[in-house]
Amino acid sequence: MFRRSFLRNSVMGLPLIGSELGKGTFLSKGQKPIVISTWDFGKAANAEAWKILSAKGRALDAIEAGAKVPEADESNKTVGYGGYPDRDGRVTLDACIMDEKGNCGSVMCIEHIKHPISVARLVMEKTPHVILVGDGALQFALENGFKKENLLTPDSEKAWKDWLKKANYEPVINIENKTYNSPKDGQMPGSIDNHDTIGILALDSNGNLSGGCTTSGMAFKMHGRVGDSPVIGAGLFVDGEIGAATSTGVGEEVIRCVGSHLVVEYMRQGNSPYDACKKVVERIAKRDIEKAKKIQIGFLALDNKGNYGAYALQKGFSFAVRSEHEEIVIPGDSYFK
Ligand code: ASP
Repeated sequence: MFRRSFLRNSVMGLPLIGSELGKGTFLSKGQKPIVISTWDFGKAANAEAWKILSAKGRALDAIEAGAKVPEADESNKTVGYGGYPDRDGRVTLDACIMDEKGNCGSVMCIEHIKHPISVARLVMEKTPHVILVGDGALQFALENGFKKENLLTPDSEKAWKDWLKKANYEPVINIENKTYNSPKDGQMPGSIDNHDTIGILALDSNGNLSGGCTTSGMAFKMHGRVGDSPVIGAGLFVDGEIGAATSTGVGEEVIRCVGSHLVVEYMRQGNSPYDACKKVVERIAKRDIEKAKKIQIGFLALDNKGNYGAYALQKGFSFAVRSEHEEIVIPGDSYFK
């Protein structure tokens, strides 16, 4: 029934969401299990996560399995293998993972490892720490059986060499959306996506929440630059009593307001996931409206009842949902219309 009424309200498979947005409820109906992910490419990640969730598996396992999909996808230039390198030509990756009890792990600026999300999980499960960075993260991964690989694909190397000609370092709004409208085709001709990330949140059939976030960060960034994605509280936050949130976009601005934690705290105050995301985006916009006009930031949230919502600064943000009733990509509402 739900699916049918959803389709009635759809154009070319995408939902007409305007009427729902005003109520602050989005399309969410409190579904369990459920998995949601940032951007169109989240759909493929959700499909993998769903195999685990639909078999009554654990949200944490679903998160890891889902995040590994874009990490292994060579055509995805913003996550994992094939991700664009930094300005020195080095592919450095960031990832974190968190469960409903506040257990969390993170790796920052790790090189040569295709699945940083899995290393982050091991940091969480096998060390007394939360974060490992750079060489230390790589050493830990190798000690735990991960293979050292070259992550710089010929495509990404070429894009980096082209970029070097002008070396213009500027995040581009919504290039992600243009690029990934046809995920199978990889890059749109001539496009360069400067930043993008997969944030993935899941609620399992036992009512447990988990989340993950993984990225190669901003393309052609300074070596050693880390954004919001692997920073617990900024790029990801999970509280089993309330809900979970994740972010994508210009990480520096998300770190400045500890964005994902703030979304969860707004939900704690009784706001819906949609309203909570919107409030944080509004705070970012009001802090510096001129800066906000030039950048993209999107938040995605899931409460522990299975209600979800999202909100971005700019048009063009999308997110993917998979539950028993839905397998869809939804265009996110935005501050600038
Ligand atoms: N948030 C990521 C970063 O700043 C990039 C992105 O999501 O676009 O590294």
